Amino acid sequence: MKLEAKWPGATVVPIMLSSDKTQVTMFRNKAAYPIYMTIGNIPKDIRRKPSHHAQILLAYLPTTRLDHISNQSARRRTLNNLVHACIGHILQPLQLAGNRGMELCGGDGILRRGHPILACYIGDYPEQVLVSGTITGDCPKCDILRDELGSPDAPFELRDLQNILAALSQVDEDPVAFARACHERRIKPVLGPFWVNLPFANIFDSLTPDVLHQLYQGIIKHCISWLRQAFGEAEIDARCRRLPPNHNIRLFMKGIFGLARVSGAEHKQICRFLLGVIVDMPLPNGASPIRLVRTLCALLDFLYLAQYPQHTDSTLQLLDDALERFHTNKEIFVELGIRSAFNLPKLHACRHYADMIRRFGTTDNYNTEYTKRLHIDLAKDAYRATNHKGEYDQMTLWLERREKIIWHSNFIAWRQQGNSFPSTCLGVQRSAECQREYKIAKHPSARWVSIEALGTDYGAHFFLPALARFVVRVASPQLSSAQLENSAARIVLPIHAVHVYHKIRYHNKNCSPSESNEPGATVDSIHARPKRRDGQGRDIPARFDTGLVYTHNEAQRRVDRTSFILDILLCHY
Ligand SMILES: [Zn+2]
Repeated sequence: MKLEAKWPGATVVPIMLSSDKTQVTMFRNKAAYPIYMTIGNIPKDIRRKPSHHAQILLAYLPTTRLDHISNQSARRRTLNNLVHACIGHILQPLQLAGNRGMELCGGDGILRRGHPILACYIGDYPEQVLVSGTITGDCPKCDILRDELGSPDAPFELRDLQNILAALSQVDEDPVAFARACHERRIKPVLGPFWVNLPFANIFDSLTPDVLHQLYQGIIKHCISWLRQAFGEAEIDARCRRLPPNHNIRLFMKGIFGLARVSGAEHKQICRFLLGVIVDMPLPNGASPIRLVRTLCALLDFLYLAQYPQHTDSTLQLLDDALERFHTNKEIFVELGIRSAFNLPKLHACRHYADMIRRFGTTDNYNTEYTKRLHIDLAKDAYRATNHKGEYDQMTLWLERREKIIWHSNFIAWRQQGNSFPSTCLGVQRSAECQREYKIAKHPSARWVSIEALGTDYGAHFFLPALARFVVRVASPQLSSAQLENSAARIVLPIHAVHVYHKIRYHNKNCSPSESNEPGATVDSIHARPKRRDGQGRDIPARFDTGLVYTHNEAQRRVDRTSFILDILLCHY
């Protein structure tokens, strides 16, 4: 996928979301509603393999049916608002990160400023209607009228986001005016849709083509039922049974109309021989089946062209041509009395395919079949690992542990292959450390510790010479190292004891990708505590952590750091 950066030097990270409700059990009627996330920068060959973990589970959305709300339309409205509120809560960090950018470390180890922008929302038609807030029966992407959905050339415009945002902004004003404004724009009066405040996001633009539900489980399914009415169930089933065995063809020995519920995979199998089965079949009353064959041929052309893993302008032109041929010949179903109109949102969606492929890449980038596969790993297996009581807490914990085990085993395998950390990654960590600031307690851990005790208990034998060097360097930073040593040797410090702090904590000034995301959180600490006894008389061994001090000043580097900087850090006069 390619999405152009709007700022020079910045990288746009296209966020791709997908959500779909699934049954996690066969009998108890328990459902889960996971929402997944991936980014468009990942190659599709990696994204489509679940073992590569390029898609992550963001959350489980609520599956409640709100049965206590007896009014059906009120219940539907509340469910809509609930889903939008939940997704809005999950995506809230995208608002700031999308506008200001955030530090992201790429696979090459280089730190860049990335702007995560919601680019795609992958889902079937009910999901698209839900997230876009449009009305069921309309196209969720454009403003085409409902009775022109079957038209091959009726003009349409993509929905005007600014116009819809203006209607939604009236939510705090007169409720009647708000409902009327939403009705005029043909959207539901949703309270605060999750995409309203997302920077540079246009949800109507983000809805992607869906080969599984729009073509296989949509138009192809409809077309098979139309063919059934045209040719009769018995003849088609009889021909299916007589098909010769072939490596790539599944034989339906009981016919294709005896299947209780035809899955997407079965529709794929049926599409492989459907044209061959009906190609010379006579229509009742001796009518010519030529246009019917052309219609099916055009539909199958469109189906397979839409799934090309690569496209050029000429293949996209072929895609549009196939759709045009379908529309040219589809009237045969009207003449046979099978259909009266073709105002199907799924048929109209085919008109968006070429444009969407140009914009978001080929359809295998955003296939809803991947979401179905993820349900097995991230919802069904997780549910089976629970005791089926309070399952969501257990499912998330189980998934978290499984992810950590996978990361760890991947890391071990990676290191065993002889890989080392890229130098740029080390640079990233150092730049993160530069954002740190240290904090010490308000009161010292030990008061008035004698200089002798500093040597015996803390090992700071050269504290006074180091302090003398420090005083000279602060007073006269231009001195050379030999001059500094001479001046320090002449200083007599009238000190016999100092306050000692046993711990320094480092806080994050800014958010850092490699550390805690909370500004102000403790990310590291250094301890310097001599041996002592606890309240029960047991010995607690001494703890002296190693601290490496990075200085930018060349003059400082020449000074003996071990006896100077660390002593100064740990002992405050
Ligand atoms: Zn449309």
